[in-house]
Amino acid sequence: MDLIEKINNSIRDVEDFPKKGIVFKDITPILKDPKLSAEIVSQFCETIPENTTHIAGIESRGFLFGFPAAMKKDISFVLIRKKGKLPYKTVSINYALEYGTAEIEMHVDAVKPGDKVIIHDDLLATGGTAVAAARLIKAQGAEIIGFSFVVELAFLNGRKLLEEFTSDIKSIVKY
Ligand code: AMP
Repeated sequence: MDLIEKINNSIRDVEDFPKKGIVFKDITPILKDPKLSAEIVSQFCETIPENTTHIAGIESRGFLFGFPAAMKKDISFVLIRKKGKLPYKTVSINYALEYGTAEIEMHVDAVKPGDKVIIHDDLLATGGTAVAAARLIKAQGAEIIGFSFVVELAFLNGRKLLEEFTSDIKSIVKY
């Protein structure tokens, strides 16, 4: 079985979560399988350009594979979190979700001009969250050199929004 098949077999579809009409792609069964989780991290690492200085993980599932990948590649990891979770001075941005609206933020010193950042999350849906993260990072003067997701809901066309920042948009499994 290849990696895509293994991920497909592991992801659990939860209908009508968090609201009616949404099919939620639950990745928690992957986390119960350490070998599959490690394979995902390795696959992610293979696609990270050599000049990358930071991986920015989007709360909270973007931390799961993002931080292990950053450690493996010996590069920095920064946290993009929901409003009110980070202790130090922050910069923040409002954005629209597939379901509702949200505000994310990061520490003001998380990235700086000259940094080359990959934005990572478990899943790309409409792209709103990743775009907001990219705007935050760009506003601090860093460069977005890639986006990386485990799952892409390709029918929502989120990738189109991300092309404004870079053409390097990767996902392992597409639906
Ligand atoms: P979006 O901003 O629409 O691309 O949404 C991406 C964020 O919402 C990611 O952090 C995902 O984890 C989460 N998300 C959105 N839609 C789904 C879905 N159908 N299944 C699982 N997670 C989702």
